[in-house]
Amino acid sequence: MKVPLRDLGRGLWSLLSGMRVTLGQFFKPTVTVHYPHQALKMPPRFRGHIELVRDPETGKAICYACKLCERACPSDCITVEGVKLEGDKKKSVTEYRLDFTKCSLCGACVEACKSNAIRFSHEYNLAGRSKEQFIMDLFKRLEAEGK
Ligand code: SF4
Ligand code: SF4
Repeated sequence: MKVPLRDLGRGLWSLLSGMRVTLGQFFKPTVTVHYPHQALKMPPRFRGHIELVRDPETGKAICYACKLCERACPSDCITVEGVKLEGDKKKSVTEYRLDFTKCSLCGACVEACKSNAIRFSHEYNLAGRSKEQFIMDLFKRLEAEGK
């Protein structure tokens, strides 16, 4: 079978063009990670579900259950409970329930908190089989992290 020289040239050129793209990608830095064995580093402004912030001096939650965040949430995701311990001027949080199934990550709660007691976490790895797994007590989570 005779192959015209012009077709042969085109085929070769196409092959070389393809190889050029492949080799170009081969030497570029790797951008994929071996998920889930490797954790991703999220950018500072990433919004995961909210979390309670710990007071660096006392190690306890800064939150004093004033409920400003609860009232600010347009989706009724937050329920905060607290008690005033003897000798304390403010309440201490005892329960901080977040229904993440309803959260739109709007940030109204974070903005409403005058004490910077809540912030967006960098948690991106949430998966579950039931809705209940996304209803969390952020106070219990904070306590568990401290142990
Ligand atoms: S997180 Fe802030 S706004 Fe919400 S109850 Fe605690 S102190 Fe108040
Ligand atoms: S981010 Fe918005 S929707 Fe989510 S808990 Fe806060 S106020 Fe509610």
